[in-house]
Amino acid sequence: MLRRLSLTVAHLLLLALLVYQINGQETQSQKIEGASRQADSSGLITSRLSRKELDLWKEMERIVFAESVDGRPLHPELRNLWERVETSNHAVFIEIKRSTRTSSCTAGSFAIERFDPKGEKHIAAIKLNLSSIDQAHVGPSSARDNGFIPFQGLSKKERYVEVLGHELAHADHILTDPECARKVEEMVEKTNEILLSQLSNRRVNLLAPEMNRRLSRRDALLKDLEEQAEEMEYVVWRELTAGKGVRGSERQRVADKETRRQGDKETRRQEGASVP
Ligand SMILES: [Zn+2]
Repeated sequence: MLRRLSLTVAHLLLLALLVYQINGQETQSQKIEGASRQADSSGLITSRLSRKELDLWKEMERIVFAESVDGRPLHPELRNLWERVETSNHAVFIEIKRSTRTSSCTAGSFAIERFDPKGEKHIAAIKLNLSSIDQAHVGPSSARDNGFIPFQGLSKKERYVEVLGHELAHADHILTDPECARKVEEMVEKTNEILLSQLSNRRVNLLAPEMNRRLSRRDALLKDLEEQAEEMEYVVWRELTAGKGVRGSERQRVADKETRRQGDKETRRQEGASVP
């Protein structure tokens, strides 16, 4: 009974989230229609970003593709993820937001916006919520089962990249596996659609056996998908942490070079001054 009660509470919470999502989706429907038109291109698409967001995106891209002095990629797994999504035939729109609304309290999300039954070209979106990432608690209480504490030791932008890595892992895993994409469409997107339509008809019955079964299957799939993305996120965090020192020393190297150049100039000026 208690379990059922807590399930109901969970479902009600989900409903509350869906109400927010409906509002969001109404204003987004045009965007999604537009997406179909814009999605002539494929890979990671930044046309939904403002100029300022695009600047941040480029900085994140520079972190992803950073190399050591001898030209070795500092984040090979992260780079692979990016390149697999970028060179896929699917269209993945990037959105960067700063929202403190409870409905958008997640750090990032990945969703299929238009499913292609042939599996040739899905349209999807990766959303990053900078406010959630900035405000995330980092400490022992946020540790995952394997002890990994997300964002630990990372700078603001490196944290954004960690979340991007997590969402890229979803995109890569789901879009490049036709069976997985079909399951996500059938169990996640369809279930949410049914809930939305029942909600607009005011005929929601979350305890109906069919709906309960659907929700359980959806949640089990989401749990599997989450485990896979969290594993990759840990790999990405390790790469970002290991690369930190090298990126730091690279910055130091550039700074040293700059100082040396200025020092040379200074010496030349002094030499010049000493020559009559
Ligand atoms: Zn996830």
